[in-house]
Amino acid sequence: MTARGNLFIISAPSGAGKSSLLSAILQDKPADMKVSVSHTTRQPRVGEVDGEHYHFVSVDEFKALIEENAFFEWAEVFGNYYGTSKAAIEVMLEKGIDVFLDIDWQGAQQVKEMMPEAIGVFILPPSKAELERRLTGRGQDSAEVIAGRMAQATSEISHYDEYDFIIVNDDFEQAQVDLKAIIRSQRLTRASQIHAQNDMLNDLLAD
Ligand code: GDP
Ligand code: ADP
Ligand code: 5GP
Repeated sequence: MTARGNLFIISAPSGAGKSSLLSAILQDKPADMKVSVSHTTRQPRVGEVDGEHYHFVSVDEFKALIEENAFFEWAEVFGNYYGTSKAAIEVMLEKGIDVFLDIDWQGAQQVKEMMPEAIGVFILPPSKAELERRLTGRGQDSAEVIAGRMAQATSEISHYDEYDFIIVNDDFEQAQVDLKAIIRSQRLTRASQIHAQNDMLNDLLAD
């Protein structure tokens, strides 16, 4: 019997490294972990692939999806719409796959309300100066966009206390170890193990 997958909410101020961390731990494409691919109305960055990093849609298409009640959660972030479709997550959780949502704090609040068992992980940068260095170093956004994201950083960071776990992404290797430890720990809870080890437990308890 497979346990239902866990739902992880990963949030951070833009540039703290959540996309890099998620790509790193999913690099070998483990069959039991998937990032949910959000819909967004922002323009694709160089190298971003439709359907892989995001489903890139127009504002009209996004609004139609809201009307159809297709979203599990959605929010307006930095002047664009972002949303997680219901289809993206439920089937995977049922199959026992751990699903990661790379979403902002507004989306995180909506998810926690609907699924209190979802596990919130907040990624912090070691300092503001380093956050700005990373946003600039990523070389993907204009100076104006970076200034806007830096201006938002403090208010985003103020939501850190709504999450179950906090990772400081200073040393990238250490941050990966920390994230993997959180994921592993959630598979070892009694609630998960009762399902995952059902047959073995029955054998062990039989007279
Ligand atoms: P990043 O900050 O470099 O990851 O930039 P992105 O443009 O990829 O994401 C912009 C913001 O939108 C971030 O705060 C994300 O966490 C948030 N975001 C992305 N996808 C979703 C989503 O499906 N739902 C919600 N609520 N927020 C999202
Ligand atoms: P987010 O998805 O949170 O916006 P990214 O994963 O795109 O952030 O990371 C922003 C930039 O910082 C990228 O260029 C990435 O390579 C770099 N970066 C991420 N983690 C670290 C780290 N621990 N040390 C140095 N640079 C990092
Ligand atoms: P970016 O534009 O840099 O890809 O993402 C900016 C922010 O939007 C990030 O903080 C990211 O977590 C958030 N974001 C991405 N997808 C979603 C989503 O589907 N829902 C919500 N609420 N936020 C999202």
